[in-house]
Amino acid sequence: MSTSQQPRRAIVVGSGFGGLATAMRMLAAGLDVTVVERLPEPGGRASQLRDQGYTWDLGPSLVTMPWCFDELFALLDRDFRREVELIGLDPFYRIDWPHDGTRIDFLGDVGAMQEELARLSPADAAAYPAFLEASRLIHENAVLTAGRRAFENPLPFAQLLPTMLKLGAARSLSHFCSRFFSEEHIFQAMSFHSLYIGGDPYRVPAVYAALAYLQVADGVWYTKGGMYSIVQAMVRAIEGAGGRVRCNADVDEIIVRGGRAIGVRLADGEVLPAEIVVSDADPVRTRTRLLKGAPDRAPWRFRGPRNGMSCFLLYLGTDRQWPELLHHTLMVGDGYRTFIDDVTRRQVLPENLSLYLHVPARTDPSMAPAGGDSLAVLLPVPNLASGDDWSAISDSWRDKVVDYLEHDAGMTGLRASIKVEHRMTPADFERRYDADEGTAFSTEPLLTRSAYFRQPNRDRTVDGLYHVGAGAHPGAGVPGVLLGAEVAASLVRRDLGIAT
Ligand SMILES: Cc1cc2nc3c(=O)[nH]c(=O)nc-3n(C[C@H](O)[C@H](O)[C@H](O)COP(=O)(O)OP(=O)(O)OC[C@H]3O[C@@H](n4cnc5c(N)ncnc54)[C@H](O)[C@@H]3O)c2cc1C
Repeated sequence: MSTSQQPRRAIVVGSGFGGLATAMRMLAAGLDVTVVERLPEPGGRASQLRDQGYTWDLGPSLVTMPWCFDELFALLDRDFRREVELIGLDPFYRIDWPHDGTRIDFLGDVGAMQEELARLSPADAAAYPAFLEASRLIHENAVLTAGRRAFENPLPFAQLLPTMLKLGAARSLSHFCSRFFSEEHIFQAMSFHSLYIGGDPYRVPAVYAALAYLQVADGVWYTKGGMYSIVQAMVRAIEGAGGRVRCNADVDEIIVRGGRAIGVRLADGEVLPAEIVVSDADPVRTRTRLLKGAPDRAPWRFRGPRNGMSCFLLYLGTDRQWPELLHHTLMVGDGYRTFIDDVTRRQVLPENLSLYLHVPARTDPSMAPAGGDSLAVLLPVPNLASGDDWSAISDSWRDKVVDYLEHDAGMTGLRASIKVEHRMTPADFERRYDADEGTAFSTEPLLTRSAYFRQPNRDRTVDGLYHVGAGAHPGAGVPGVLLGAEVAASLVRRDLGIAT
């Protein structure tokens, strides 16, 4: 199919962070790479929306582990910190409990954070350094090592288990946090982070305690112009290295002959031949739609796929601001555990609301007209397996969220200040990204769906097919999919006999 003079051709299906990062790594390895994306713009869940002077990042908003991007861009001789303007945030975010008036600002400095926690519980404040140290060990031994490993067979997983047990990382995140914190607000502030990637803190392993630690270790960052500025920088890097990003190109089939992927067929019938196919699409849809339901004989699914929760998002352009909102603000409602149970395990719409607000104009005035805000409001909700019909309930949930913010969370005058608005429901996640059951974060990050039991980065049935993105190993979140891209690209190099 190829000679030593001709670069070997690779197709990446989907231009999320995982797909773009794999494309960059394969270009660095000398492959001829084309990324095909069904939407008109690249970026996937990190797309951006602009309307009447307001700019919203549709999905991710916090940059953590920025060194993952440093390493990635360096492969193509680019300096990530010149490609985008990184701005450090401190406080990282504010956590508000509007129903009882409690507030915690999550601060980068450990001593300052202890003072912040001591207002609520001196004992918990004293335990904070020990919590960070225990989380550091998990981050270094269970996350960074395991996240960069391929788990091609059950052995590495079995080898990792004793370390996880020793570090307390195999039990639930909530159990881990309760060893250090007993004051309820502090417990919630230290345990909620797995929700960022669709994980229920009461059921995901304490591996995800690393999410709190890595903020303190590497900072929480914003890139000027929003998260989308990173997508644009990645596309520049890909095109600068001779790769292509083709939008409005919906892949309808990954063509398999004799057990080997040989290219993709687009919805308009065009065939793009390739020696390597990488899917950044939803793992369930890759199997059912793109591989036309080809049986998956591999044991990567422990008890069948279980998609994580979804989100209901409002993007509001307002003509005023609320100074008590920081760049990132969480509003936690009464009944934290019931709320989480509702949106994950029980799959019912929540009684009491807990919300996350992104207010980028606080750091970057270019994101909204002067004096206004481009608010993104995120409410975790069940995915479409709940049976909810969002075309029927979306308006009433919009009103419910706006009423809560205005009347319970102190955002006086919100409703009247909204000049432009958009929204995204679980049905939109399904429609836009072809996300199975409209999941926002793909397969749930449970222990039984991690490492060997998650979608592997190299397909176990079809040769020449690789998987990246939130549903593949190691999992969701921007750093997670960047690590997955590293694993997938190193498998491609190894399989093609390309020296590292
Ligand atoms: C609301 C929200 C907030 C988040 N906040 C954060 C955060 O602050 N920090 C963080 O680190 N993470 C965050 N995350 C998680 C993070 O955004 C995702 O895990 C990550 O961006 C997913 O990247 P991906 O590689 O899986 O690709 P995706 O972004 O899922 O993109 C996949 C792409 O594939 C395309 N595609 C699918 N099927 C086809 C096909 N057949 N043909 C062609 N193209 C196809 C889709 O259109 C899409 O563009 C957030 C996620 C959401 C939803």
